[in-house]
Amino acid sequence: MRSLQQKTRIVILGGGAGGLELAALLAGRKDLHVTLVDMVSSHLWKPRLHEFAAGTVSSSLSEISFYILGQLRGFHFEQGEVIGIDTQDRLVRLDAIRGPSKNNEQGEVLAGERTLPYDYCVVALGGVTPDFNTPGVAENAIRLDGQPDAEYFRQHFIAEMIRARATGVPADVVIIGSGATGTELAAHLRHSERAFAHDDKPEQKLLNITVLEAAPEIMPGAEESLRRELVQRLALLDIKVVTDARISEMQSDEIKTATGEKWPFDIAVWAAGLVGNPVLKTLGDFECDGSGRIKVDAFLRSTISDRVFVIGDSASFVPAGAEKPLPPTAQAASQQAHYLADSLIRHLNGKLVEPFRYKHKGRLVSLAQAGVVGTIGRARKRDLLIQGQFAIAAYDALQRQHQWRVLGPVRGSVAIAADLMSPTHGPPLKLHGG
Ligand SMILES: Cc1cc2nc3c(=O)[nH]c(=O)nc-3n(C[C@H](O)[C@H](O)[C@H](O)COP(=O)(O)OP(=O)(O)OC[C@H]3O[C@@H](n4cnc5c(N)ncnc54)[C@H](O)[C@@H]3O)c2cc1C
Repeated sequence: MRSLQQKTRIVILGGGAGGLELAALLAGRKDLHVTLVDMVSSHLWKPRLHEFAAGTVSSSLSEISFYILGQLRGFHFEQGEVIGIDTQDRLVRLDAIRGPSKNNEQGEVLAGERTLPYDYCVVALGGVTPDFNTPGVAENAIRLDGQPDAEYFRQHFIAEMIRARATGVPADVVIIGSGATGTELAAHLRHSERAFAHDDKPEQKLLNITVLEAAPEIMPGAEESLRRELVQRLALLDIKVVTDARISEMQSDEIKTATGEKWPFDIAVWAAGLVGNPVLKTLGDFECDGSGRIKVDAFLRSTISDRVFVIGDSASFVPAGAEKPLPPTAQAASQQAHYLADSLIRHLNGKLVEPFRYKHKGRLVSLAQAGVVGTIGRARKRDLLIQGQFAIAAYDALQRQHQWRVLGPVRGSVAIAADLMSPTHGPPLKLHGG
């Protein structure tokens, strides 16, 4: 058996859609020592974050402990916040971990600042929703960037539903941004609303939902057929969509647009755009694009060190012949994780490594009880609009694939089967806190 010194040390920063899949794919190999770093202790699959927020999450498997996964799959998990990468000495710097704060005082230091040596490092720290310096957004809107945001939203949503039921005055939820996050959240909130209805007043309206979009059309960049279908389905769900609504300012209870319109709200969600995790700019001397994502070459290597790779939302990868980087999706993160798992091993074995090629498999939007709608196909021209049971199965497939890769073939299959047989399958409501 090889000692630790003889193994190649792979340190993966971020256990999200890309990083965790990569760790699971590389783990257990005798020639590698794989360490996964994340600042939180459990993995939540981000594409279903809005369902956590709305309380409609349909999978009991959406949250998994990194510690347990590490033990099951054979990688080491190190909890901590990444604050730097020293590409000369090949060290990753982690901040100190503190315990819970009491009486507004900082919690005690549980583990001090640490460094982790690496032979190869993979940055997979994701991205965040930018406020585009719009006044008042940071203070007054919720942005769904992580589990704490989803939890915070859910607590507020439950409180507003209780108030609406007691007073008979519907709560106003305004969502800024009509991309997948905004439209999916809107539909799932409409689904959640029914769970709060009085038995004797099942049709009582508890919720007004408005989606504001700065562009002249819903879901900019999506295929025309998909946009048309979305408009119809959101109208059926009584979700108001307002386009050409550029937000100029946000106050604690009101949004103002550049044209002077005002939208009062009880809860506002800012779901417009995505940029690289702000920490990327401070990690080292990495070259970032205008969205704060680290530029990578055709092999997903950073431009300043061929021992530091970047994948997922953190990576600015421009496919050959394209003008813009790939958009930030779990689909891209997962394909990059797969590519890297294979290409790293080939590289270590002295074999030829091909450049990364992205295959676009389509775009799917889940609208809770209004079904799933989307397009599939690799090339734009051949995109095909799908809906119904096939679309639902295709939407679930992305997460099922992720579960399968993360848990491995045996546990993955058992977990998926258990999930499908669960009495809560389909989609139930998770409206409790914690
Ligand atoms: C509501 C919503 C719905 C979406 N729906 C879809 C969809 O249907 N299909 C699709 O393809 N994509 C979807 N996406 C996009 C998709 O979730 C992301 O593109 C994908 O998760 C990116 O993967 P990643 O591995 O790059 O980063 P992430 O999955 O964001 O993971 C980043 C990880 O890094 C950790 N981290 C961050 N900073 C630090 C730090 N300083 N130190 C240590 N750890 C840190 C985080 O805790 C996290 O675990 C959706 C996104 C959202 C928000």
